Amino acid sequence: AKELGRNNIQVFTEEMAARAHEKLQSQEELREALAREEFLLHFQPQMSLETGRIFAAEALLRWQHPVRGIISPAAFIPLAEETGLIVPIGDWVLRTACRQLKAWQDAGLPPLIVSVNVSARQFRERNWAARVAAVLEETCLEARYLELELTESLIMQDVPGAIATMHALEAIGVHLAIDDFGTGYSSLSALKRFPVRRLKIDRSFVTDIPRDADDMAITSAIISLAQKLGLRVIAEGVETEAQVEFLQKSGCDEIQGYFFSQPLPGEDFEVLLSSERR
Ligand code: C2E
Ligand code: CA
Ligand code: CA
Ligand code: CA
Repeated sequence: AKELGRNNIQVFTEEMAARAHEKLQSQEELREALAREEFLLHFQPQMSLETGRIFAAEALLRWQHPVRGIISPAAFIPLAEETGLIVPIGDWVLRTACRQLKAWQDAGLPPLIVSVNVSARQFRERNWAARVAAVLEETCLEARYLELELTESLIMQDVPGAIATMHALEAIGVHLAIDDFGTGYSSLSALKRFPVRRLKIDRSFVTDIPRDADDMAITSAIISLAQKLGLRVIAEGVETEAQVEFLQKSGCDEIQGYFFSQPLPGEDFEVLLSSERR
């Protein structure tokens, strides 16, 4: 019970001083987590609806806490962003994802793209594209195997700046995707100017398919928009057969979600990948 109380933030919300202390502590904890290499990546397969094969994996950050076990990114990424720690953490994620993919390639596994989430703070770092290029060089991974997921809100914070960085990344040969598409405020006219390859339809539109007619209308509208703009489109959070059928019928290119697989530790992902029929 003592253990529970200590980690329950609710307990501290009453008292400002205690709360500030708690926050400071977690920031310190996050810093130590990085130093002690307590972070790890899980990989969630992305499947082509056309071929039925895994073509990519999204790298998702986890914190293997010595006492609390595996902690999800939702619980610490906001703090990491607030404190700027997301920059070194994000560097670690990028380097680790590229290194893992290169190791799979060297082991002769089927070709794959690795998709990495980028936070606004990271993306705004000076010369960020050059840092990405340096990581690719260091890990000996060809740029075309890396995809970076940018959210609409990240792009909308500074559209001209974002477009410039996106072009610099495109010039290196890295591919870009817009994550959580449909939840932000990017105008359709702005979308036309972004050098992106893929839209990821946010899970919130997929969850209630086929119950919610509005969500179905929005989803199929995003798919036809993507098609007209020559972009690939992937639906995330796909959990049911009915959703797969609807997406297939609507012309969606790819799916990601529990229906096919949860995010997996590297070793498990490797087993899944090597068990695919060639
Ligand atoms: P996201 O980029 O939208 O990632 C998809 C999230 O949906 C993941 O949660 C994934 O586990 C979950 N998910 C996948 N399929 C399903 C499904 O069928 N049903 C449901 N209910 N959920 C599904 P996760 O791994 O907890 O990550 C949460 C968020 O944390 C991510 O959302 C992303 O915004 C952020 N994140 C994760 N890793 C990183 C990272 O390395 N860097 C940054 N900046 N953010 C990250
Ligand atoms: Ca993502
Ligand atoms: Ca997403
Ligand atoms: Ca709904």
